[in-house]
Amino acid sequence: MLKIDDLHVHLDADAGLVRAIDGMRLTLAQGQTFALVGESGCGKSMTALALMRLLPDNGRIAAGRLELDGQDLFDLSEARMRDVRGGRIGMIFQEPGTSLNPVMKVGDQIVEAIEAHTPLRGAAARQKAVDWLRRVGIPEPERRIDEYPFRLSGGQKQRIMIAMTLAAEPDFLIADEPTTALDVTIQAQILDLLKDLQRERGLGLLLITHDLGVVSGMAHQVALMYAGQIVEVAPAAEFFAAPKHPYARLLLRALPDAQRRGEPLAAIPGTVPPLWQAFSGCRFAPRCDRAMAHCGSTPPVLAGLADAPAGHEVRCLLYADLRAAGLAGTGLSV
Ligand code: SF4
Ligand code: MG
Repeated sequence: MLKIDDLHVHLDADAGLVRAIDGMRLTLAQGQTFALVGESGCGKSMTALALMRLLPDNGRIAAGRLELDGQDLFDLSEARMRDVRGGRIGMIFQEPGTSLNPVMKVGDQIVEAIEAHTPLRGAAARQKAVDWLRRVGIPEPERRIDEYPFRLSGGQKQRIMIAMTLAAEPDFLIADEPTTALDVTIQAQILDLLKDLQRERGLGLLLITHDLGVVSGMAHQVALMYAGQIVEVAPAAEFFAAPKHPYARLLLRALPDAQRRGEPLAAIPGTVPPLWQAFSGCRFAPRCDRAMAHCGSTPPVLAGLADAPAGHEVRCLLYADLRAAGLAGTGLSV
């Protein structure tokens, strides 16, 4: 289990202190996919960087725990964290160019990952590297294994990076928009590969995306982020069938077909508020079609719902008011 508890991330910016992540909580189990969704700037990528302890220089973990099988990774020395990173926890992200060594053949880079993290050596490791290239959809892997990164297209580099990360056989994978740069066929192939690895080896996947089609095809759990906080978390089927937060409803209503792959998050009017300001009420209030008078002055908390399955929580005063009025569980549609 990988468990994030009450994570707060702060960044120092010209405008002041930015509270980029404000009280994040989630649990990723082996063999499960937990999808983190939301518009850009809501804190998804910052969450991934915090988990790997790869925050930018102006950023820090202000509070919180990150537990891997009971051990707090935020307490580890940088040297021990390096072993975890790329070993038990892998990460793939959007810009592949930066993580490949330009003067090393791609196959050697994959072999290096295999030899560092699995018992395979020499010819067996090389054969395994060929297998990984094949599994990520690189044509003629026996030949391509001896090429340098500059000979490859952006999409191929992305797949090499995915192969290199998976070759270390991580227990958990943090994938930030892993397939956004790939064409639809390759994207489907990579997502199928990740599902296979969940079945074969119980890979736990934290999938960060703005593509709800990918989420509906992959995720067991979904958390929707807004302005540095989770505003709704639910089992995936429940999230798509009965979203509760006004933001979730707007996003899903504007989406013509949630099953369709490659569909970006719908644009809804307004923008994510800057996070250097103090909030006195609900962060979504300026964009909310259900806002009430006290939404601007009362910050909602993330809480469970009486009439939804366990694990479905929402941060919205509409539901707090229903609970207070004893109306939750009456089937009243909000
Ligand atoms: Fe909308 Fe109020 Fe709920 Fe915020 S708390 S999402 S403004 S109804
Ligand atoms: Mg991002």
